[in-house]
Amino acid sequence: AHLARIEAVDEKVHAFLHVDREGALAQARAVDEKRERGEELGPLAGVPLALKDIFTTKGMPTTVGSKILEGWIPPYDATLTQRLREADVVVLGKTNMDEFAMGSSTENSAFGPTGNPWDLTRIPGGSGGGSSAALASFQAPLAIGTDTGGSIRQPAAVTGTVGVKPTYGAVSRYGMVAFSSSLDQGGPCARTVLDAALLHEAIAGHDPLDSTSIDQPVPAVVEAARNGDVRGMRVGVVKEFAGEGYQAGVMQRFNESVELLRELGAEIVELSCPSFDKALAAYYLIAPSECSSNLARFDAMRYGLRVGDDGTRSAEDVTALTRAEGFGPEVKRRIMLGTYALSSGYYDAYYGSAQKVRTLIKRDFDKAFEQVDVVVSPTTPTTAFPIGERADDPMAMYLADLCTIPSNLAGNAAMSLPCGLAPEDGLPVGLQIVAPAMADDRLYRVGAAVE
Ligand code: GLN
Repeated sequence: AHLARIEAVDEKVHAFLHVDREGALAQARAVDEKRERGEELGPLAGVPLALKDIFTTKGMPTTVGSKILEGWIPPYDATLTQRLREADVVVLGKTNMDEFAMGSSTENSAFGPTGNPWDLTRIPGGSGGGSSAALASFQAPLAIGTDTGGSIRQPAAVTGTVGVKPTYGAVSRYGMVAFSSSLDQGGPCARTVLDAALLHEAIAGHDPLDSTSIDQPVPAVVEAARNGDVRGMRVGVVKEFAGEGYQAGVMQRFNESVELLRELGAEIVELSCPSFDKALAAYYLIAPSECSSNLARFDAMRYGLRVGDDGTRSAEDVTALTRAEGFGPEVKRRIMLGTYALSSGYYDAYYGSAQKVRTLIKRDFDKAFEQVDVVVSPTTPTTAFPIGERADDPMAMYLADLCTIPSNLAGNAAMSLPCGLAPEDGLPVGLQIVAPAMADDRLYRVGAAVE
């Protein structure tokens, strides 16, 4: 049924870069056969899923939305892909994304933009716009995203779906193409809080192949999603997440959610996190710095594209020609920003200062979580903007992640879930919930209450 739905609508939506029709049918049949033989089935047996094209899939293309990896077929599965297979999930295919997960609109994909199913002339968020659009257009009931600065939560917010960035280190990064290793985190996307929890439980947990993976039990997220009792919980509202640039209808729906939480028995506490104002600036130094180092591996020798290798050129020239042709403008901008910020003479002023701000943001959260159990805010300052509106204005594009970035810098857990439609444009608004590291279950408890 989902393959038929993809055939019917994806020409318009363009959520998928690759649909694995045969593979999906074979997986579904294998689940049926297992069931017939009376074998034990995985926890998500037979449930179709759309996988962001940033996770390696053995025998299936993995492009990361970039020309530089076009035609590359990974020889191995990411740990997350492996876990999906163990859960008996049916992987429908790979979803569109901003190149190397750099962007907030999916317009930076080398393979063309994705439309927002609510209004195809608008962006579905980014970088994981393919996954969120696949959910919102009922092409898949589950999807996977990655969140470096908001790429799971912001697409969820603007498409009226649920997206969770688990605690940093909760979901293995092995086989997840690196953008900014200290921020990147894979996580579940779904249409309901409980669906997200079921997927969360299937993909999270320690992985010895990822040195930053947390070796602790996964918080009881499914139990929390089934519970939804917020009586006596303390919920923080950060005053820095409001003001200029926030759409009126977004604030209205957010304030209604806070009222709802109060009615359900939560205690609302106003907080100030003064360093959050500098989060965006710090992020756009740290993320490009790490990207400039991570993307050095795309040298025309190891993977995918190779340009100008006609026997007359040096390896260095082939690398330069390949990178010039293979990377898009946003990726080049980030590599240049990052190499500049890391260069001797500027390192302390840029990268060093950004790391100090990162520590201050972490301390703001630590102080907040001494007073409250979770923090709530709008996920993103505005609803989905029109495709093209911010494409030539990187600063305006970067503002989409104003509320999501602090959690990546601090490494804690955060969720976005729908909280109604903005009255002025009828488009979905996202509520963000943030919990301390390894308290991911609180997201699901509060999410289930307001859903
Ligand atoms: N929009 C942010 C960026 O462009 C975040 C991307 C992400 O989370 N992968 O870097």
